[in-house]
Amino acid sequence: MKTIVLTRQQIQEKVKELGQRISQDFNRENLIVVGVLNGAFIFTADLVRAIDLPLQVDFIRVASYGSGKSSSGTITLTKDIERPVQGEKILLVEDIVDTGLTIHRLKQHFLQHGAASVHICALIDKRERRELDEKIDYIGFEVAEGFLVGYGLDFAEQYRNLPDVYHLNNTTVPK
Ligand code: 5GP
Repeated sequence: MKTIVLTRQQIQEKVKELGQRISQDFNRENLIVVGVLNGAFIFTADLVRAIDLPLQVDFIRVASYGSGKSSSGTITLTKDIERPVQGEKILLVEDIVDTGLTIHRLKQHFLQHGAASVHICALIDKRERRELDEKIDYIGFEVAEGFLVGYGLDFAEQYRNLPDVYHLNNTTVPK
């Protein structure tokens, strides 16, 4: 069973607001917007259309959750972005920050490769299981707990195509 948590209208308004804030904060500077695959693909696509700056879009992929609902605790980078980041301003776009391990690992990765700055934009900040208090520069929504699906977020690769975000109440893998 699924319960709606964020409607498509709420998401649309928030994305517009985040895009405006980012556009003002970076003041005509060039950005590399890096979406974290797969979960942030829809959020990234919507967010870049709300940002009025010169920018490039790229994607990175990490393996952490596997196909289950709890983190393995180990973050492995399985696909890097395809351009040098030396001297560049990076905006990392994440769907959900949960323990904080993924954004921490990715921020370090870009800084180690010489990025001028790394800012983080997350659609959802889920503080329930936070382990690393990495600063999130732009937060769409704060959600206390639970496992969420929809708007790019999956459970066992299902539900990414739902336009709204739902709380998933049972753990049966969908057919
Ligand atoms: P963290 O490293 O912060 O613990 O986890 C971040 C990643 O875990 C996110 O990119 C996301 O893929 C996944 N994740 C965390 N919470 C949820 C959730 O409620 N639903 C889904 N579908 N993925 C989640």
